Amino acid sequence: MNPDDTIVAISSAPGAAARGIVRLSGPAAMDVASGVFGAGSAIAWLPEAAVRTRASECVEGFVRVERFRLPGFALVFRAPRSYTGQDVVELHFLGAPVLLGWVVEACIAAGARRAEPGEFTMRACLAGRLDLSQAHGVAGMIAARSDMQVRAAERLLHGELSRVAGTAREKLADLLSLVEGALDFADEPIEFITPDQLRKHLAEIRGALVTTSAAGVRAERWDHLPRVVLAGRPNAGKSSLLNRMTGLDRAICAPVAGTTRDVLSAPLRLGETECLLIDVAGVGDAVDTLDAQAQRAARDAVKSADLVVWVEDVTESDPARRAGLPVFEAPILRAGNKCDLPGAPCAAEATDYDVLVSATTGAGLDAMKSALAARLRDRDSAVSDSAVALMSEHRAALDAALGALDRAIELATASGEALADADLVAAELRVAARELGVLAGQEDTEDLLGRIFSRFCVGK
Ligand code: GDP
Repeated sequence: MNPDDTIVAISSAPGAAARGIVRLSGPAAMDVASGVFGAGSAIAWLPEAAVRTRASECVEGFVRVERFRLPGFALVFRAPRSYTGQDVVELHFLGAPVLLGWVVEACIAAGARRAEPGEFTMRACLAGRLDLSQAHGVAGMIAARSDMQVRAAERLLHGELSRVAGTAREKLADLLSLVEGALDFADEPIEFITPDQLRKHLAEIRGALVTTSAAGVRAERWDHLPRVVLAGRPNAGKSSLLNRMTGLDRAICAPVAGTTRDVLSAPLRLGETECLLIDVAGVGDAVDTLDAQAQRAARDAVKSADLVVWVEDVTESDPARRAGLPVFEAPILRAGNKCDLPGAPCAAEATDYDVLVSATTGAGLDAMKSALAARLRDRDSAVSDSAVALMSEHRAALDAALGALDRAIELATASGEALADADLVAAELRVAARELGVLAGQEDTEDLLGRIFSRFCVGK
């Protein structure tokens, strides 16, 4: 990805809309744009506009592509005062996907290159306008689906994580120089730092990182719908519920245990929000090998669930089968199904359940949807006000840094009066510092950049 190329992409959301945006960034952005955009009757106004001194301006005019002449405007941001630090031109005109595509092609014909996913933000990083954590904040902001998520992404974008990691890294660097001093002058009777002092400082750094990690919210799945998994014993009616609730006839329902062998899913609208409703194989004794595989898939689906609906057959008379609600990491909604059957308890009797439903008649399903929406909302609002959005790379780096700190603390604790194994301690501190450098955006490798930005959409 050569940053000297001029790149182009549609940067508005996919689909038809009143306005669409084609964005260009790079040294030739103005020249390329002037091939398709004109003000008044003349095309090619931009190089002339470029000599003007204002950092940005909005020019009304038209985009000419094929035989169309589309009214619109161009936003011009001159280097270095643009998102990417380069000359940037945004062409805003009718948001018709085909026309947007044609304009991109015309820009490519005029010398631009199609942008890779996240390449605009990557350029912003390379120009030092954003650090990596902040770039993640941009991704989080784009993917956010709730107020809480926007606030958490904003904290990341404003450098909260970079600040915490940067401070911790500086303190570690100081400690590292003392430990290395002890190594360099091992034969001298100079004491650079006592094991006790080292342990105390490391514990402080650790504390700050643990607080950040605890306040973090997993942001890597924000661009996916929340996953609501229907779990329960075979024949409780999970597949019937999936069918009935999503209006799809995908899941096979049969009174034979082990019928649902795959993980089936369908989107479900819940008032203002939406979720992915997932039906998995029943939790119970595996009937055969295929069933055992299905149960493994079911366990994986449950592990990544945002909410579990535990479905029970309310007429199940065997107390052993009714008891034993497994422990789930996700919050649980208990649904008593088959309330249409004779002998089913009435609402007042069925206090074990959050909702009583019937997949056959549809009774109670509206109440169940409201309950699901409320649980998903609670999950969001339970997140603390100081939450910072964390991507999986952040968590991995935080965990690795914490692991190294723990090992260094152990070594310091095991030392006597003087610091033993200073070389091992130094190695652990270096590992922790490197991981924190990744978090603070000070340690960018090509590979890491590529991995992070590939998650962005093209045009961002
Ligand atoms: P799963 O194994 O939990 O997915 O259960 P299924 O959805 O395959 O249902 C098992 C059996 O219970 C099927 O014969 C369904 O027709 C029946 N069933 C499911 N839900 C209801 C319900 O609400 N009322 C009644 N009467 N039968 C149901």
